[in-house]
Amino acid sequence: MNRVELLGYKIDTYSFDEAIERALELEKEEKVSQVVTINPEMFDCAKTDNEFAEILNTAEMIIPDGVGVKLGLKILGQNVDRIAGVDFARRMIDESAKNNLPIALIGAKPEVIKLACDNLLSEVENLNIVYSQDGYFKDDERVLEELKQTKPRLILIALGSPKQEKFIKQAKNILPYGLMIGVGGSFDVWSGTVERAPEIYQKLGIEWLYRTVKQPERFKRIFPTLPLFVMRVFKEKLLNK
Ligand code: UDP
Repeated sequence: MNRVELLGYKIDTYSFDEAIERALELEKEEKVSQVVTINPEMFDCAKTDNEFAEILNTAEMIIPDGVGVKLGLKILGQNVDRIAGVDFARRMIDESAKNNLPIALIGAKPEVIKLACDNLLSEVENLNIVYSQDGYFKDDERVLEELKQTKPRLILIALGSPKQEKFIKQAKNILPYGLMIGVGGSFDVWSGTVERAPEIYQKLGIEWLYRTVKQPERFKRIFPTLPLFVMRVFKEKLLNK
């Protein structure tokens, strides 16, 4: 297992391709598996939310999404690839289509999910979307029952964190199988509603900077979360010496 402990949680340190390969294996198993794409805010959330902490302890894969997590692991001496959740999920869609595996998408505003599905269907050959549902439903049981009936193998949940991870937890008790990934704002990107940062920002790992300049209200999501996260990691490193 390529796992490394960061602030008490085990993070997978796969390269992008290895992570896809592992996820494809899980997708074919006869059980539900959960992929969490983790960022510093989620470590914060787990401090006060026991249910969320338990989810992190039991997730089949936790991959470092935010550049903050990459930095945290670097402080502990681990050089890992940052795997942007939106890229990971998109590649899983391509691979699932190639393997004729059915897909479900749940989350985002009604017009956003519709546009995202339309765009994906026109871009991905052989794509089989068996279920789609916007993210503003009240009745979890209905959606879970519909998921069960449609039998998807790849299930992408875009409800924001920790809501999406908690929905996946419920699904684990009900569905027979399926790889489930919490994908945050990915449908907004695929719908064309939210613009992705130019490639140079993505390569340098500073997409957050671009997004914060474009949407200054995001500033409070990064500060003080990121510096406090880095301080916690330094503290952990000193204590474990
Ligand atoms: N969302 C949703 N239902 C909710 C709350 C949020 O479907 O009850 C969607 C929202 O429309 C957006 C995504 O969840 O598409 C959250 O995106 P965000 O960028 O906040 O995700 P995060 O940064 O938490 O990964």
